[in-house]
Amino acid sequence: MLYAETGAVKGILIGDMGLDAAGKPKPGHTPGMELHGKYTLFAEGCRGHLGKRLIAHFSLDRGVEPQHYGLGIKEIWKVPAGQHHEGLVVHTAGWPLSESGSTGGGFLYHIEDQQVAVGLITDLAYENPYVNPFEEFQRFKHHPVIKQVLTGGQRLVYGARAITKGGLQSQPKMHFPGGLLLGDNAGTLNFAKIKGTHTAMKSGMIAAEVVVRAIAENREQDDLAEFGHSYRTSWAWNELHVQRNFGPAIHKWGPFLGGAYAFLDINLCNGKLPWTLSDSVADHALLRRAADCKAIEYPKPDGVISFDRLSSVYLSNTNHEEDQPCHLKLASPDLPIAKNLPEFAEPAQRYCPAGVYEVLVAEDGSPKFQINAQNCVHCKTCDIKDPLQNITWVAPEGGGGPNYPNM
Ligand code: SF4
Repeated sequence: MLYAETGAVKGILIGDMGLDAAGKPKPGHTPGMELHGKYTLFAEGCRGHLGKRLIAHFSLDRGVEPQHYGLGIKEIWKVPAGQHHEGLVVHTAGWPLSESGSTGGGFLYHIEDQQVAVGLITDLAYENPYVNPFEEFQRFKHHPVIKQVLTGGQRLVYGARAITKGGLQSQPKMHFPGGLLLGDNAGTLNFAKIKGTHTAMKSGMIAAEVVVRAIAENREQDDLAEFGHSYRTSWAWNELHVQRNFGPAIHKWGPFLGGAYAFLDINLCNGKLPWTLSDSVADHALLRRAADCKAIEYPKPDGVISFDRLSSVYLSNTNHEEDQPCHLKLASPDLPIAKNLPEFAEPAQRYCPAGVYEVLVAEDGSPKFQINAQNCVHCKTCDIKDPLQNITWVAPEGGGGPNYPNM
């Protein structure tokens, strides 16, 4: 981030190209360029790494609740013609996450070309550090309703991404001197519908109108407070207001009671009940000590419906230049083994859907924390769920990361 002398954001600094793993320049090294703008608009999606810094720098989240997240894991399959019904949508709640006292929901969309998109969203407010969202997804595919569609099909693509689900209660201020925070970078997703493209686009359309007007008036790097007014009077804000109690209700009362409440609140009362539920504890702070929780034994993958993480990452077309600085930064390299392992059985081994984090045994027999950064599918879960908030995801070099053809 680049700041003007006034304190306003004046642009961004792109990362260097051509650094080795130790951060030293390699042949052909190109220093990052400064990009300056009259206004800089940040639309990085959920848990944007610049957005996170802006929220902290300008205290944009003062007075709002912590953001809440879910981890969505998704695959696309080509299935036999007789099992495909284009346009059919299946949504689920409860199993298999309910077995560990966690919440979340699944989906199965019959899309074009005899393909289906199947996925599970694990609520990152789960408490048991033994929960493994990847393995929950594998179990989910074995439910008879899902399995009957996938049987005889071929898995084509795998991917994972965190989504915001705190709703309006968790939305930070979206304007600050010199720029705007847009879309899911500010948490505009409608979690009740698991849809966010339309609300993100609306925030971008309002931003375009506000910024064009400001530039026409020769205003540069202002705090565009009028964005806040336009957004709050838009249909997007109204839609999020109607569904504001969905997430907190599910967290408080579980998928069935919470779901029943949400149906009453949203569908029967159109969000007009005169209260707003609160959900005030951040997801990472909810993790309980491993000693107080039951370890979970997941079934082995059958290689037909369920798979392991490495073969899944292969289908995400993830590619990173190997000799570059690690893009997963540990504030303290000691904490994973010194604190997370004894207290939480180092949950990064399980919450990462790409198997990036491992606890290995060093030559002297002591545990050793390993980061396989080249496998990272950029879902941001480690940045969110690490109980000590020790991990920060930053952008790797160039266009490294997953390359989803049709997700
Ligand atoms: S390392 Fe972090 S961001 Fe990358 S895939 Fe794993 S949990 Fe997601």
